[in-house]
This record gives sequence, C-alpha cells and structure tokens, in this order.
Amino acid sequence: MGLFDPYKGFGVTFSTMFKKPTTEQYPEYKKETAPRFHGRHQLNRHPDGLEKCVGCELCAWACPADAIYVEGADNTETERFSPGERYGSVYQINYLRCILCGLCIEACPTRALTMSNDYELADDSRRDLIFTKEQLLAPLAEGMEAPPHPMRLGESETDYYVRDPDAPFPWQVASTESGGTPTADADQQAEDVIARRTAGEHSRADEVPAHGTGTERPR
Ligand code: SF4
Ligand code: SF4
Repeated sequence: MGLFDPYKGFGVTFSTMFKKPTTEQYPEYKKETAPRFHGRHQLNRHPDGLEKCVGCELCAWACPADAIYVEGADNTETERFSPGERYGSVYQINYLRCILCGLCIEACPTRALTMSNDYELADDSRRDLIFTKEQLLAPLAEGMEAPPHPMRLGESETDYYVRDPDAPFPWQVASTESGGTPTADADQQAEDVIARRTAGEHSRADEVPAHGTGTERPR
C-alpha cells in the first residue's frame, strides 16, 4: 500500500458525500414498472365469470423451473367451472422457483394465464410463496358470477365464443331484469368489448385487470 492510498480512499468517500442519493424509498415509494414487465401471474375469466383455464397442463410442461402444478378435472352438468370439457381443479405456482420468464403464458392456449405488473412477491414463509388457484384467479368483475354455474353466454361453443356483437351482455340483462336500465358504465364496457372484438383482440382485451396494479401486460 502506498503512502497516499488511504487519502485516495477518503477522497472517493468525500466526493460521494455530495452526490444525490440513488436510494429507492421502497415501500413508501413504489417504482412504476415497464408495461410489459413480467410480474405475478393471473388466471383469467370469461365475461360470465367462468374460468378460462381448461387444466391442460401445457403451462406446467413449458415451465423450465418446474414451478407450476396443475390437476385437471371434468366439468359436469351440475358443476361447471369452465366452458370446456375440463377445468383446472388444482393450480399452484411456486414463487420460490419461478424466474418470471413468461414461457408458461406463451404456452397457454386459452389465454387463461397472463402476467401482471405486480412485483411484490417477497415473504418470510416458504409455504406462503406457493400461490394457490384461489390466490391467482382474477377477481369477479361487474356482471360476473362465481363458478360453478352454466355457460351464460350461449349453450354451444359457437354461441359462447362467437357472440352476436349486438346481443346484450350478462350485466346488462341482469340490470334490466332487476327493474333498472343498463348503466352508462355497462354500456361503455359493452361498447369497448365490441370494439376490441371487431378489431380481432377479443381474447386479450376481455381479460380482467390484474390484482393490485390494475394493469394488464400487453402481448
Ligand atoms: S414465468 Fe417461467 S419460471 Fe415462472 S412459472 Fe412461468 S414458465 Fe415457470
Ligand atoms: S393456464 Fe393455460 S396452459 Fe395452464 S393448464 Fe390452464 S389452460 Fe392449460
């Protein structure tokens, strides 16, 4: 060590003392993420509240970290959770393993699985970082009904998936049946959905906003 080396070291300290701090004041200040940020997953619903997940396990097979566990089950006439034959009866994501790479959402054939911008996934319990289906499912939006229930958007697959754009939405029918008229919000919501469907974006844009941030990752 040279004679002046300690003074050089203090020089670095001294010059840094007057620089603006770069410390993030988290959690008081939460930095906004990029729109396509890969955060916490979400299991989406159809507009009547049925689940989009059909329990096919493609997401689990695509995952390089083996972080997803899925068990599928058959829908029955009395208990229907998704519009297809099957639904995901058990769905878990282990955030101790997940590297937020997004391969699972690319593999999902129904756009049931998407990623939100929510990055607050730290915990001091290993058990609590295994998220269950109940934690991952999108909350029920206006006009949605908690499964199990019959397909409200049509009996056949064509009726369910390819709706007449002029047909009223479930929340509009519910509003009219209860003696009221569809609200301005419901009308606007319906117009937005029709516009997106006309633009060929129906399966993406009809997904419910993510928990917490309210932002849906564009794809
Ligand atoms: S984001 Fe990547 S690591 Fe995480 S569950 Fe999906 S595929 Fe697996
Ligand atoms: S989230 Fe998608 S890929 Fe995974 S089991 Fe459900 S439908 Fe299949």
